[in-house]
Amino acid sequence: GEWLGMLGGGQLGRMAVHAAQSLGYRVMVLEPDAHSPAGAAADEHLQAPYDDADALTQLAARCAAISTEFENVPAQVLERLGADRPVAPAAPAVAVCQDRAAEKAHFAKAGVPCAPHALLQSAADCAAVDVGLLPGILKTARMGYDGKGQRRVKNAAELAAAFAELGGVPCVLEQMLPLAAELSVIVARGRDGQMVTLPVQRNWHVGGILATTAVPASGIAPELQAEALRRAQALAEAFAYVGVLCVEFFVLDDGRLLANEMAPRPHNSGHYSIDACSHSQFELQVRAMAGLPLPAPRLHSPCFMLNLLGDLWFDAAGQQREPDWAAVLQLSGAHLHLYGKAEPRRARKMGHLTIACATEAQAREQALAATRILGLPTEGLV
Ligand code: ATP
Ligand code: MG
Ligand code: MG
Repeated sequence: GEWLGMLGGGQLGRMAVHAAQSLGYRVMVLEPDAHSPAGAAADEHLQAPYDDADALTQLAARCAAISTEFENVPAQVLERLGADRPVAPAAPAVAVCQDRAAEKAHFAKAGVPCAPHALLQSAADCAAVDVGLLPGILKTARMGYDGKGQRRVKNAAELAAAFAELGGVPCVLEQMLPLAAELSVIVARGRDGQMVTLPVQRNWHVGGILATTAVPASGIAPELQAEALRRAQALAEAFAYVGVLCVEFFVLDDGRLLANEMAPRPHNSGHYSIDACSHSQFELQVRAMAGLPLPAPRLHSPCFMLNLLGDLWFDAAGQQREPDWAAVLQLSGAHLHLYGKAEPRRARKMGHLTIACATEAQAREQALAATRILGLPTEGLV
């Protein structure tokens, strides 16, 4: 079969590799780490830095199309590869998603509202900030994920201290918003501009990390869900995106819908689609990058997705252990996905569990049973 290329070796790459192989492709993964989830699943692992000239030459020479699972791959690398081969998403879109300031400008360009915010480049910018943005959340413009690189600040003094603590790098200060709910939408856009979406996902975070995703997004008005789907499509359209894009949204206490951030790739909140939809976000990514038809995915089972963090691999005394998978797999509708990471660490994403059942009530009951067996948070389930 033909070869596809993937930049990055994490679990998102691993699940994309599985989807590509299932469609008859062989996959080459560029990842500097010797042991990685995607590297282990790949037909060939190029172990080199993302900007390694020889590795990039090989990718461009041998792959029919190239994608990335890691949004912080240098945008110049995608640009260079894109000169020879279809690269989806393309460098400019990835560059926007790498930088919260550029991302917010893109929201404005597409006419999509987001949190009131300011770009802070220096201590002087902090001192001059509009106090209407406080209390707020200071976020580094680049490289943050899972709540890393963020500080909640109540006043100007805390803002100045937090800016220094984050290293004095460019940051975005966002007003702290009263959140009623969090949603996300996955949109896939083909080279021909055709777009399809997965159903709206409702998300709950614990300690800044996604804990639970529910689909359908019960409790969210259908008109608001439709609006989220429209806005995600408008954002993809506004940079002629090709590939899978995830847009995170906030629903405020007053019912307003605001965009939070985008990811230029499949997203943790879309993992449920492997087991609960006719086509997964990873299959959509492969189809979009390879220029294949994009079917409209259909949710066939209401479901809950529970993230499995490394904490589960440690008992109360801090001793390492293996969670009781056999007990979890007794539950009807349970699908276990482990990423094959070498070492469990606290707060590290080791896998996820999807509970997909005939009814939402059944899925909720089985998901709650899973939380009891594994000792998981019950966010979104009670
Ligand atoms: P991800 O792992 O999703 O990439 P991240 O580190 O980029 O996360 P954000 O999505 O910006 O971080 O924020 C993490 C979480 O913090 C949000 O999902 C939300 O729960 C909360 N949060 C972020 N910004 C705000 C805000 N302006 N007001 C209230 N809560 C917020
Ligand atoms: Mg983020
Ligand atoms: Mg986020």
